[in-house]
Amino acid sequence: MNNMQHNMQHQKDKNGEGMKLVASLTSKRSRSSFVKELLKMPGGENILDCIQCGLCAGSCPTRFAMEYSPMQIIKMMHLGMREKVLSSSTIWICSSCYACYARCPRAINITTLMMSLRNLAIRESFVDRKGVKPKFHISFFEIVNKYGRMHEPELLTRILKKSDLRSLFHFAGLGWRLLKKGKLQIRAPKIEQGTDLSNILEKTSEEES
Ligand code: SF4
Ligand code: SF4
Repeated sequence: MNNMQHNMQHQKDKNGEGMKLVASLTSKRSRSSFVKELLKMPGGENILDCIQCGLCAGSCPTRFAMEYSPMQIIKMMHLGMREKVLSSSTIWICSSCYACYARCPRAINITTLMMSLRNLAIRESFVDRKGVKPKFHISFFEIVNKYGRMHEPELLTRILKKSDLRSLFHFAGLGWRLLKKGKLQIRAPKIEQGTDLSNILEKTSEEES
């Protein structure tokens, strides 16, 4: 190899090294920016304490239907996989049962974190807002905002009214049984000091956005 070839090879190696360095710096930067974002979210305060013990995944009753287990979701957060986390079906399959939180040895509130992720996924259009699960999530919030409490018949009709009339009939039997037992109210409930609640919800929405 003559001098010129040697210099060219040296330059090529240098460029290669540089590219690798930039790639690693970029990924480190995006990784830490996602982690920083998560640390500020309700439920995400101590995600860095996770020891990947798997108790959350082992306790989760809906794990079988999830794309990634709660433990994997936490690991993906550590790795800065923002897009994958926010577009994952896992955050929508979570039934908010709190089993993972109750058993986590590091007191990581995955249940609340999943809710925060759902809000973020809706805000940033990672999901189809008209899909049944986001629609359920949005309608739930709107109804609580409106009455101060849940009104199940309205929730059901909002979710199913256009999409699936057959499902509405399917739930009619269950609705009737609940009604007979006094577990369902036809009239929408109203709480006292509903305005206070609306103000709180409005304030939290502002802080989140
Ligand atoms: S139970 Fe807690 S510490 Fe264990 S893997 Fe799940 S989040 Fe991490
Ligand atoms: S809160 Fe969600 S993630 Fe945690 S155990 Fe229950 S269903 Fe699974």
